[in-house]
Amino acid sequence: MTKTLLSTTLLSMLSVSLHAQRTEDKIYHYSSMDAMRNGVYTGDITVKELKQKGDFGLGTYNFLDGELIAMDGKIYRIATNGSVEEADKRRKVPFGSFTFFKKDKSVTLEEIKTVDDLLKKLPEILPSRNRFYAIKIEAIFSSLTLGGAIKVDEKDVTGIATFMKTRPLYKKQNIKGTLVGFYNPGYAGGLDLSPFHFHFISDDKKAGGHMIEGNFSDTKITVQLDEKNAYEVILPNTNDVGYQRIWTSSQAKAQY
Ligand SMILES: [Zn+2]
Repeated sequence: MTKTLLSTTLLSMLSVSLHAQRTEDKIYHYSSMDAMRNGVYTGDITVKELKQKGDFGLGTYNFLDGELIAMDGKIYRIATNGSVEEADKRRKVPFGSFTFFKKDKSVTLEEIKTVDDLLKKLPEILPSRNRFYAIKIEAIFSSLTLGGAIKVDEKDVTGIATFMKTRPLYKKQNIKGTLVGFYNPGYAGGLDLSPFHFHFISDDKKAGGHMIEGNFSDTKITVQLDEKNAYEVILPNTNDVGYQRIWTSSQAKAQY
């Protein structure tokens, strides 16, 4: 009797702790960076559907028709000319990383003058370099260079590395806004840029893009971290010709 009672208690304790471990705080990732490296620029997920997957994220639009940033539940599109609009809910996305951002901790860094300084320092403040983090940073930049995208021909399957050499660059000065991004461990380098992928949107929602380089106005930078314990990869539908081709390019370390 005592034995049975004990094992029942143990079992229920065990199930409580297993349950706790299974609580998923996840990143929803659509397609893969290797797909982009191999010229797969079509997806079938819409902006409307992505809003169900997170209130915070980044990506691009089909045929690289603009850069994508999601913040506070809104999804924006940065057009080739640099203008920013809320994306039409029917627009489709070939690549994106989304999550519901809920800060676990904030860390204030000192003596951070440039984006480069920031990227060097960030790994040191992560509780683990082998886990995924959503990262949000509000800052003022004395100068900032953002990258955009130019729509590719619908038949073009040139890998993204080639297009990124001629991507539009938007240079901004004295601009306040938010970096929305992710830390992706090395083992995720085929899925997304690793270690970091950041997009930016200004507070006035007039400028945005892929973060390339910049200088901070204030050298004290507060970093908000949201540790994730789950990463869900969803691929475009099975008829996607891009996923049927043989891929030859995987430069997991490449930055764009
Ligand atoms: Zn990007």
